[in-house]
Amino acid sequence: MAAATDVGIPEDIRDIVKASVTGIQQFIDSEVLPLERELQPILSDERKFFRDDGRATDQVLEARKQVRMKSADAGYYGMFAPESVGGGGLGVRSMVFVEEGMYRKYGPGRPLITWAKGFLSQPTIASFVDGPSHMLVAVSEGVRGEFLPGIAKGEKMVCFALSEANAGSDVWGIQTKARRDGDDWIINGSKQWITNAPYADYAVVFAVTNEQLVAERKGGISAFFVETNAAGYTFDGVLPVMGHVGGDCGSMSFDNLRVPADRLVGALDQGFQIAMFGISEGRISISANCIGMSEYALDRSLEYAQQRMSFGKPISEYQAIQFMLADMAINIYTMKYMILQTAALVESFPQTGRMPVKEISIAKAYAVEKTQECYDHAIQVHGGIGLSNELSLNEGFRIARTLRIPDGTGEIQRRTIARQMLRGDTAF
Ligand SMILES: Cc1cc2nc3c(=O)[nH]c(=O)nc-3n(C[C@H](O)[C@H](O)[C@H](O)COP(=O)(O)OP(=O)(O)OC[C@H]3O[C@@H](n4cnc5c(N)ncnc54)[C@H](O)[C@@H]3O)c2cc1C
Repeated sequence: MAAATDVGIPEDIRDIVKASVTGIQQFIDSEVLPLERELQPILSDERKFFRDDGRATDQVLEARKQVRMKSADAGYYGMFAPESVGGGGLGVRSMVFVEEGMYRKYGPGRPLITWAKGFLSQPTIASFVDGPSHMLVAVSEGVRGEFLPGIAKGEKMVCFALSEANAGSDVWGIQTKARRDGDDWIINGSKQWITNAPYADYAVVFAVTNEQLVAERKGGISAFFVETNAAGYTFDGVLPVMGHVGGDCGSMSFDNLRVPADRLVGALDQGFQIAMFGISEGRISISANCIGMSEYALDRSLEYAQQRMSFGKPISEYQAIQFMLADMAINIYTMKYMILQTAALVESFPQTGRMPVKEISIAKAYAVEKTQECYDHAIQVHGGIGLSNELSLNEGFRIARTLRIPDGTGEIQRRTIARQMLRGDTAF
């Protein structure tokens, strides 16, 4: 099999991409897989992986932390975060190739990578919902000095707390409020569906600071860097999804949570932009994951179709099977180059001043929907064994289905695409 990164890598990032892909694969082989073997009894049974309340067990959390910190030491954990927050500063195109290479080799369904992209991928490379990211660039100097080093090292974790029970797609509908009290802010409200909420040491919490601006949709939401062990902060529980018995998503509430003024992230009333910054990063990262995940499904299907006999022939000789393999290839090729083009447009933002909002939404909507299609085909090519937990193609299917909701549903991506075009952005 040709390595995922052998073709199409632009000259200017070829060396760093190849070194990073090889380095991460070596890191996983030498640091993570031995841990996987050691923890196999826990990892192969969700009832041992999660506690009764749905949180991962202490042993699992300790192992994840070990992976994060070793990955940070080796320079991988924050490699795509800006240098100003302790990251490696690599660009979006590099991220696409590196995440593709990682997911293609290790897939979504190995025991360690199951449960909402849980064990292996999440701790190895940080994202805006758990570690150092572009979203943290705007923190105050005080927060930068006191909290970011621990986050960059992988010792401490953050979460991104925007959604609420009655406000998901419609961000302007959030009800959490922050009011000024002397030098502090007092936050009241609650959040739901927050990835990493059960484990985070800190949360970036979005709250209304000016109701009039929010009503006019011109601002009025602010972001705050909050410690999750502060008085007034309560973690309310895990929200398992897609048949799992526990998970990484949860809800929390704030009851007169007092936050010092220097915990404001970015400018007052301008938190919406910070949220969109994080979400845009998430959309591209999810899309990049999807390329490798889909390639993993295709690789397994190509292998299996050539060895599985039916009616005296390998099933790969039947056109019905060939068409599914071909459709997977069409999906992968299209999503890969769509995402790479979008990544190039994001990287050229400092020169062009144009953020490719439409293209990011096109890429995210397409990648997640087509990844689900790839896993559906892969399961079909495998027949009964495709549904088994042993191969975990079913986990890939569940992850792909899950990814159609966070960071903007398919409908919200289409809404964004249409609105951008109706505003005159019809460039392709
Ligand atoms: C696994 C997971 C992880 C998540 N992680 C985070 C996180 O870390 N931080 C965070 O803040 N949030 C997180 N979320 C929340 C996520 O962003 C929201 O679930 C998502 O934005 C959808 O919001 P909702 O669930 O309230 O659905 P709703 O907004 O109520 O939507 C319900 C349905 O209506 C459709 N719809 C809504 N408005 C329109 C419209 N204008 N036009 C057409 N259709 C529309 C939607 O597409 C959907 O089909 C996560 C969610 C999940 C499932």
